[in-house]
Amino acid sequence: MKVGFIGLGIMGKPMASHLINKGFQTYLFDLNTEAVDELSNMGGHPCKSNQEVAENSDVIITMLPAAKHVYQVLFSEEGVAKKSKPGNTIIDMSSVSPEDSREFAKELKKNNLSFIDAPVSGGEPMAIEGRLAIMAGGEEVIFNRVLPLFEAMGEKVVHTGESGTGSAAKLANQIIVSANLAALSEASVYASKAGLDLNKLFEAIRDGLAGSAVMDAKMPMIIERNFEPGGRIETNYKDLGNIQSSANALGVPLPVTNLVKEIFSSEIANGNGKMDHSHVLNFFERMANHRTSDNE
Ligand code: NAD
Repeated sequence: MKVGFIGLGIMGKPMASHLINKGFQTYLFDLNTEAVDELSNMGGHPCKSNQEVAENSDVIITMLPAAKHVYQVLFSEEGVAKKSKPGNTIIDMSSVSPEDSREFAKELKKNNLSFIDAPVSGGEPMAIEGRLAIMAGGEEVIFNRVLPLFEAMGEKVVHTGESGTGSAAKLANQIIVSANLAALSEASVYASKAGLDLNKLFEAIRDGLAGSAVMDAKMPMIIERNFEPGGRIETNYKDLGNIQSSANALGVPLPVTNLVKEIFSSEIANGNGKMDHSHVLNFFERMANHRTSDNE
C-alpha cells in the first residue's frame, strides 16, 4: 500500500515516521519543507505538492490544523480530490467537526474516493511513541483495509461507526481534556497558595480518583513551568469552537465547555495562544495573584 501523508507538524511528523519505519512507501508533503526533508532522510519520498502526493498514493492521510486547511488540500483545483485515482481512500486524522467530516465524505464520493475520519488522542508524546488512541468513522470494509496503517501509529484503534463518528468521539474527548486542564490548573493554584509543594500534591493524588492521563502528562509541565507546545492553546480553542457549533446544532447545552472556552479565550487575548494548553494555569494564577512555583 502506497501512503501519502500531508501535514507534518507536531503530530503528523512522528506519525508519518512510524509508517516509514514499518516499511510503508510513504509520500510526503508539508508547506514546511524542513519537515519533508527530515522524513525523507528516514526513507520517505519527498513531494513538491499535494498533487504529487495524490498521484503517487493509494491512501492519503491528512493531519492539518483545522477544517479550512483540509478543505483547501482536498478540494482546491490542484487538490487531492481531483488528482487521486478513483477507488483511493482519504483519511483525515485532523480534529474537525463531525459535520465537516460528513461533508468531506460526501464530496469525495463524487470523485469515487472513500473517506475515513480518524482523529487521534494522546498528544505529541503518544504520537512519538506510536501509542495514539485512534477513533475512526466510515465504512467498516474501508476501515479494515487501512487498519494496518492505524496500527503502525496507534495502540488503541476503534471503529466508532459511520462517517463523522470519529470526529464526534474526538470532540467528546476534547470536552473532557479541556475541563480536566482547567480543573488541574485551578486545583494547583489553590493547593500552592495553601502551602503545598506541587510535587507532593502530584505524588499524593495521582493514583487516587482524581488521577488521569491529563494529570500524568501535564502536571510535570506545570511543575517545571515548561509550556513548550505539545498541544497549543489556539488548537485546543479551535476544538472548543467545533464542540459548540456541533452541540448547538444538536440542541445540547454545554455549561462546562462554554466556561472553559472563555478561559482559553482569555489566554489567547493575553498573547499565549501558541503555548502548550497546560498554560491555562496562567489564567488561574492571574486571578489568584499567586504563582505556583519559582521555576522560570
Ligand atoms: P501543527 O500546526 O503543528 O501542524 C500542522 C501542519 O500542517 C504544519 O506543519 C503546516 O505547515 C501543515 N499545513 C498547513 N496547511 C497546509 C497545506 N495547505 N498543505 C500542506 N501542509 C499544510 O498542528 P498539530 O499540533 O500537528 O495538529 C494537527 C491536527 O491534529 C490538528 O487538527 C489538531 O487539532 C490535532 N491534534 C493535535 C494534538 C496535539 O497535541 N498537538 C493532539 C491531537 C490532535
